[in-house]
Amino acid sequence: MAWTQWVREIPDFPLPGVLFRDVLPVMANPEAWHEVLEALEAQLRPLQPDAIFAPEARGFLIAAPLADRLHAGLVPVRKAGKLPAPVLQEAYSLEYGENQLEVEDDRTLAGKRVIIVDDVLATGGTVAATARLASRLEAHVVAFAFLIELKGLKGRQKLDAGVPVLSLLVQP
Ligand code: 5GP
Repeated sequence: MAWTQWVREIPDFPLPGVLFRDVLPVMANPEAWHEVLEALEAQLRPLQPDAIFAPEARGFLIAAPLADRLHAGLVPVRKAGKLPAPVLQEAYSLEYGENQLEVEDDRTLAGKRVIIVDDVLATGGTVAATARLASRLEAHVVAFAFLIELKGLKGRQKLDAGVPVLSLLVQP
């Protein structure tokens, strides 16, 4: 059974009118999860990343095994207040209001090749803010990778057009 069969769709979560894609059942199934990691590894290995940046929290779950497979470092990007100083912070818009993401101010990332990974690309605000953090650390974003891209939300438009986007599953 293809891994995509394990994605669960939940209507009206977390808000009425939203169809939430739950990827945790994919991770809970060893064959499906292995298939996902194999596909990401095969397509991202040629880019020779030095580090994987991943936003909290499901991004961590993908980035951790992937970083090891690609022999890259793991850089968690967290909600405000979770990481010890010094940090860099970027704000991004949500449907209602604003949120902040933070990364440790690790200057050794300057000049490094970075891939940004998350479970779902929706409006793109989360990974666009993550990419801004990577740029402020003077790292080079060489790709974005997602399990699922929700095309209708036009997240790609918020990303640098020159950087490749790998989405294992694209949905309308
Ligand atoms: P964006 O910033 O692109 O609008 O939203 C992406 C972020 O919200 C990701 O970190 C992702 O985990 C979460 N997200 C948005 N929609 C969904 C969804 O349908 N399913 C899951 N699993 N996460 C979502």
